Amino acid sequence: MRPSAERDLWDICGPRGVIANPTSLLPYESDGLAMLHVKPELVVLPRNTRQASDVMRLLHREGVPVVGRGAGTGLSGGATPVEGGVVVSTARMRDVLEVNAEDRYARVQAGVVNVDLSGACARHGLFYAPDPSSQMACTIGGNVAENSGGPHCFKYGATTQHVLGLVIVGHDGEVIDLSEPKVDPLGYDLVGLFVGSEGTFGLATEVTVRLTPRPEVVEVLLGVFASLDGACDSVTDVIAERLDPSALEILDRLTIEAVEDSVFAAGYPKDAGAVLLMETEGSEVEVAANVRAIRAILEKHGALSVRTARDEAERKKLWAGRKGAFGAMGRVAPDLYVADAVVPRTKLRELVRRTVEIASERDLRLATVFHAGDGNLHPNICYDRRDADEVKRVLEAGHEILKTCIEAGGSLTGEHGVGLEKLEEMELLFAPEDLATMCVVRDVWDPDRRMNPGKLIPLRACREVRTLPPPAEPA
Ligand SMILES: Cc1cc2nc3c(=O)[nH]c(=O)nc-3n(C[C@H](O)[C@H](O)[C@H](O)COP(=O)(O)OP(=O)(O)OC[C@H]3O[C@@H](n4cnc5c(N)ncnc54)[C@H](O)[C@@H]3O)c2cc1C
Repeated sequence: MRPSAERDLWDICGPRGVIANPTSLLPYESDGLAMLHVKPELVVLPRNTRQASDVMRLLHREGVPVVGRGAGTGLSGGATPVEGGVVVSTARMRDVLEVNAEDRYARVQAGVVNVDLSGACARHGLFYAPDPSSQMACTIGGNVAENSGGPHCFKYGATTQHVLGLVIVGHDGEVIDLSEPKVDPLGYDLVGLFVGSEGTFGLATEVTVRLTPRPEVVEVLLGVFASLDGACDSVTDVIAERLDPSALEILDRLTIEAVEDSVFAAGYPKDAGAVLLMETEGSEVEVAANVRAIRAILEKHGALSVRTARDEAERKKLWAGRKGAFGAMGRVAPDLYVADAVVPRTKLRELVRRTVEIASERDLRLATVFHAGDGNLHPNICYDRRDADEVKRVLEAGHEILKTCIEAGGSLTGEHGVGLEKLEEMELLFAPEDLATMCVVRDVWDPDRRMNPGKLIPLRACREVRTLPPPAEPA
């Protein structure tokens, strides 16, 4: 990029809007997949859609690759910079623009932190349902780009079910306003198409989301098991019996130990082989019936104990343990590789067992904590990225886990996206023609292929594909 262009970026975003100092660029070298890192040329932090549009127009003119970034909590390398590229961060776009309690929607800037959105509408008895465990840090824009899930998405659905509108800045700076109307838009579902596009279509600058009423009564249950088997079978049965909990999460022994030794200590028994954390909500009568039915299923599968939280403080504590689990694993090893696959819920027990074998065959330590209700496995491998041999074994194990889940009828990402991490595995799941079709769609949004290049779709799949010429005008 020409030095004059850098000066122009300063003019657009002001002195706090550009980071060029090598030391200050360090935190932007990777996302949560820290084994992959690249130094960006610059980080630019626009304050609003207009500045973002001016920035993108300038980067288009300069032919510079662009990587959008929210909070950098992604776990698949999606926000990892590309060589010679500029990172455009939404960290200064944190305004809640509108909360409409009557029509139950909110309009926010893309850099609003997930938990702050629920905070902003709490006084209306409403909340934003998708709740990634990283919700204290991750942004709504990042959630949109990854179609993020979370414990309560079992009941409420993932991000895509909650996004009503978007304002997007395209690769050349064009502002694409898809924020109206807020109900059942006609024509192609461009908002739905954008959700999950991992920063390859453009930069979302504003998001309109659906708000959900807080339930009347909530109960949190903790089932304690001697092993993962009983916890997995309980989940399979709870779903088969058509009970309707709002969340079903499993934590294994190593995770429990890490949580209980950390600031997130929740009161999970340290000698348990696994715990199953559940939430059920509704009217008092519905919740009481659900708790009885769930308890019976857990006991049938050998639960050592089943208890409900005494009060709101204990409910919060039990959830804080689950949501802090990845952080607590820093006690086990300096680095964590979070695998992310989805499997049929009838196969939970066998596939969880297989992931444990895959890790131990390679002499790796595995801590499992996952959104069991969604069949969304997270076998977490604890490792040290300074040990090259261990990194090699981690990557082998990660590949084997994904391959096993795909062969069992699952998919290669439940919520963390493909990013850089799972490019190779895309070819296990999709035929070359399918990948080529994805490239055609991508080219419509970004014909120069400068938006997050090299992510989501393997490069070689796109090499031969170019957007078709426009059809001839009718005579
Ligand atoms: C401790 C921990 C727990 C987690 N738990 C969960 C969980 O329960 N569920 C879950 O789904 N994920 C989880 N994640 C993963 C991660 O938090 C989510 O993927 C989250 O949505 C990323 O948001 P972010 O703001 O950090 O985005 P980033 O990591 O900054 O970016 C992620 C991707 O989105 C793109 N992007 C970011 N902002 C925009 C934008 N405005 N417009 C276009 N593209 C953009 C980036 O280019 C990148 O490809 C967890 C991560 C951690 C570290």
